[in-house]
Amino acid sequence: MAQPTDPSVTDLRRELAKAHDALMDAETHLARHAEMNAALHCSERVMYSPLHAKVDATIQGIKHALARTENTTDQDDDSDWAHLVWDLDRCQHGRHQGDACGPDGDCNGTSAGNPHLRPGSVIGYDMRRRPIVMPDRDHKHDPAAWCPSRKAVTG
Ligand SMILES: [Zn+2]
Repeated sequence: MAQPTDPSVTDLRRELAKAHDALMDAETHLARHAEMNAALHCSERVMYSPLHAKVDATIQGIKHALARTENTTDQDDDSDWAHLVWDLDRCQHGRHQGDACGPDGDCNGTSAGNPHLRPGSVIGYDMRRRPIVMPDRDHKHDPAAWCPSRKAVTG
């Protein structure tokens, strides 16, 4: 179950917003197409396609989902920081490590991740000189995974 401040909620909302924008463009295109067809056949009645209705229903669904999650992530400093950290495994094409990516560079269909921060590499130290380590994809949401020796001391 996702927590309200889970960075994946922010990421999902961002992807939903992108899908919303694309579908709005698609809806405009479909509407213009239907209106053009009506004009072409000198019809006073515009026949909107079933696909147009489906796109419209999906847009409403996205609006509803975005409204329901509105105050769970945005304007939240912690969430902004968490998202920044969460982005650290993205490759130079903006894809999370292991996700589908283009054939450019190190990514050959699958994102090779951040070329500057490979999982397992030491990327710094905390105040007590304990190493901060780039975690693997599955543990990047766990702050303890970033400082494994801290975890070993406390529990
Ligand atoms: Zn890539």
